Amino acid sequence: MTRENPELSRRHFLSAGLGGLIVLAPAAAAFAGCRRGLPGDPVPAESAPRPGARPAPPAQSPYAAGSPSSPSPYDGAPARACAATAANIEGPYYRPGAPSRSDLVSAGISGIPLLISGRVLSLDCRSALENAMLDVWQADSNGRYDNDGSFGAPPPAYRLRGKLVSDAQGGFSIRTIIPGRYLNGASYRPAHVHVKISAPGHRPLTTQLYFPDDPYNASDPFIDRSLIMDVSGNNAGKTGHYDFVLIPA
Ligand code: FE
Repeated sequence: MTRENPELSRRHFLSAGLGGLIVLAPAAAAFAGCRRGLPGDPVPAESAPRPGARPAPPAQSPYAAGSPSSPSPYDGAPARACAATAANIEGPYYRPGAPSRSDLVSAGISGIPLLISGRVLSLDCRSALENAMLDVWQADSNGRYDNDGSFGAPPPAYRLRGKLVSDAQGGFSIRTIIPGRYLNGASYRPAHVHVKISAPGHRPLTTQLYFPDDPYNASDPFIDRSLIMDVSGNNAGKTGHYDFVLIPA
């Protein structure tokens, strides 16, 4: 990234540090969910139920309040049982027609390298879905999308966007960078990567992937814990893993 962001909000973000990390939810809230916000803008009610949100853990859960050893519900990626991948909001920054590529790091893009890999599976969590289309988009390390006005209008060439297909084992791999956070109302959205997935004979899915340990996970009204990737590595480079599970049509 060579361009400095003039906005105070961005400077705030940068000063907060990027070491942290990446993440989406549904329709009515969709528009408020992912736009660039300004202090003073209305903030979505955090108490509002989110489509796809998981129910609160039972009292005997290790996450139960009052347990001195209870981790935060957002500490790390949760163990996932076999279940369809949760939908998450599309937000306002999707652009159709992204180029076919699995390497989203084009000229002028900089940031902490990130390799996201995984598989696309059917609802039994075993059957590989070959030729599933993954349409991926995300913000850059400063929290900017190519179509949010930061780069002028009309937006420039596709930036940090790409379409790729899964292989015979349902596998996919995406080379990108850790996305930056951006304001939603008065608070930052945690880092996240958007994806739309379609596969023959299955319902299309729009969702987002999130990062463990992002301090904004706990306050974001849209995150679903089941969408937190398994992430390892450091600021020299990170890897994220996630298996998508689609529902037969
Ligand atoms: Fe977003």
